[in-house]
Amino acid sequence: MTAPGPRRSRLVVLAGPTAVGKGTVAADIRDHHPEVWISVSATTRRPRPGEVHGVHYWFVDDTEFDRLVAAGELLEWAQVHGAARYGTPRLAVEEKLAEGRPALLEIDLQGARQVRATMPEALFVFLKPPSWEELVRRLIGRGTESEAEQARRLETAHQELAAEPEFDETIVNHEVHAAAEELVALMKHQQESADS
Ligand code: 5GP
Repeated sequence: MTAPGPRRSRLVVLAGPTAVGKGTVAADIRDHHPEVWISVSATTRRPRPGEVHGVHYWFVDDTEFDRLVAAGELLEWAQVHGAARYGTPRLAVEEKLAEGRPALLEIDLQGARQVRATMPEALFVFLKPPSWEELVRRLIGRGTESEAEQARRLETAHQELAAEPEFDETIVNHEVHAAAEELVALMKHQQESADS
């Protein structure tokens, strides 16, 4: 008889309104918790300074993204802010779950809804700003978008905040490192309850 393999882990999906700081929370986990595997998305947007292919994203062109979609290689994908497309490579996620490793997706709301449809057993975590005023301050403070783009994103964020009840858990992003630690604690708790 062969020994049983590791217990499949439960996928954790982190989503929340635009500018709430999902990416920063994920980066903090990447820095402090190498035991947590964070999915690397494919995207058609251009790299920002300091972003590394294969670490922050797989930067691909439209033709390659079309191919990934057609071949069914993406677990979910979405066009975000009416601009670039982003998607989660399916194979890497399946591998990590089969290995029993804590696995995290940091994606937008449309993507989270697709994962809920295909993997309802995942744990869905909503990252929420401390207040609407704080979200506005963060979106404008980032200073990377034009005024028209900021207005469009605020409108999106307003609608996205209403999605909180669709999620299993909520984390309030008062401070990035604390929010990251809360998420990791939640992931470990999942693992422990599955193991017991
Ligand atoms: P940014 O371009 O600032 O890195 O990310 C923009 C948005 O795309 C963020 O809201 C982020 O959560 C979302 N995003 C990143 N990767 C994926 C993905 O694989 N799928 C989906 N649906 N959204 C993603």
